[in-house]
Amino acid sequence: MSNEPAFCVHGHFYQPPREDPLTGEIPIEAGASPYSNWNEKIFHDCYKPNVEASNYERISFNIGPTLFQWLEKYDHETMARIIEQENRCYVRYGVGNGMAQAYNHTILPLMSRRDKITQIRWGLADFNHRFGHSPTGMWLPETAVDLETLEMLVDNGVKFTILAPWQADQPELDVTQPYRVDLPEGKSITVFFYEQDLSTRVSFDPGATANADLFSSDYLAPRFHSSNHHTEIILAASDGELYGHHQPFREKFLNFLLTHSLNQNGIDWTFPGLWMLRNPAEKQVKIRENTSWSCHHGVVRWSGNCTCTPNSDWKKPFRDGLLKIAEELDLLYESHMARWSPGDAWELRHGYSQVLLDELTPRKFIQRYCDIQMSSSTGWKIQLLLQAQYERQRMFTSCGWFFEDFDRIEPRNNVAYAAQAVWLTYLATGTSIEEKAVEWLKPVKSWHSGLSADAVFRHYIQRARNNQKLLSKK
Ligand SMILES: [Zn+2]
Repeated sequence: MSNEPAFCVHGHFYQPPREDPLTGEIPIEAGASPYSNWNEKIFHDCYKPNVEASNYERISFNIGPTLFQWLEKYDHETMARIIEQENRCYVRYGVGNGMAQAYNHTILPLMSRRDKITQIRWGLADFNHRFGHSPTGMWLPETAVDLETLEMLVDNGVKFTILAPWQADQPELDVTQPYRVDLPEGKSITVFFYEQDLSTRVSFDPGATANADLFSSDYLAPRFHSSNHHTEIILAASDGELYGHHQPFREKFLNFLLTHSLNQNGIDWTFPGLWMLRNPAEKQVKIRENTSWSCHHGVVRWSGNCTCTPNSDWKKPFRDGLLKIAEELDLLYESHMARWSPGDAWELRHGYSQVLLDELTPRKFIQRYCDIQMSSSTGWKIQLLLQAQYERQRMFTSCGWFFEDFDRIEPRNNVAYAAQAVWLTYLATGTSIEEKAVEWLKPVKSWHSGLSADAVFRHYIQRARNNQKLLSKK
């Protein structure tokens, strides 16, 4: 790689968590036939073919931790090969092309500082655990951003992120170079803005990516301006599933593009971590807070009523209801942990990724940080409370608000996670907030089927209760 202009493809690989929160199994999804569910179909259309094309060695990418967890169980070898390909790049350049992602794909600007820290630290821990080195960058779910989120990224060692061009608070933006965003206390972070038109074409115009040679010469090369005084990078960002799933055979396009076509047009391939080593951000930019890449109304798509999805009256009460539930759960968590554990209960939650990643058993984790014997009932209660906090993080998975109606698997799952969190907290503390939660969820209704969130909540609480009865009989 030299000082030639360079192109970077970023793939955001992610799926909504479809597992039933009690069984951990994904229910059969008829639309994904002949496969049992969408994860499996997309695996065969996209994740695996991209491994076979060695694309994870050359593109910038992030894989959502919850998807990684599924992949690890479904096809360990494919997961290992993704990591191997990224590691080859890391060894070659001293910096990797993989990016971390906030753990539960939560819209971070809509969360408290404490929740941001948990999501970021769990996401980084997941990356470190799997790839064996620290990431340079972190993908923000839906590229949703505010200054506090960027500050938390920097505090945890993250050096860059990728945003949409309209998230810059600046009319004339030159996306062929990274920018620096200044933060309080002299901190700063690098932001790469993707090229909007090219990213849109890659995503929605299959004709543009039918031939890698033509893509390089006709679509990409004219976007570089030799009159610019700096070396230029152009970045196209999209969902990773585009390559092979949304558009068949595009894994082959990627491979040919990155190994042949770019080179023929005098264009290098690169990725942000490497690019910023050689071309550090020189210009400063301010960002527009509470904006994202898939809602042009800020982050309203996940919190209220905007034209991205019609009939979205259910979204605001849904978020408000879950926030109230979270607040109650946190009060119980904090007050009970204060009795039992000498340390900071929130530090304990931030570190819980060690259990999620099977680095420590819950018993060892609690013994290490709480100075308590796990055989005691207190140790057991701490374990339940931490598991409840995990469910409480899951219930803010952004997919629950992304679509047009409440009666879909994604919002229903968020309610199921909330029910689990309420139930586990009850088991640990003896205090039930079930009735309050039901009241808060009542205003959330599907405009399509009439299903309401409190009915879903009650269903899952009942299942948890029945489960408990079965367990105690054994
Ligand atoms: Zn919107």
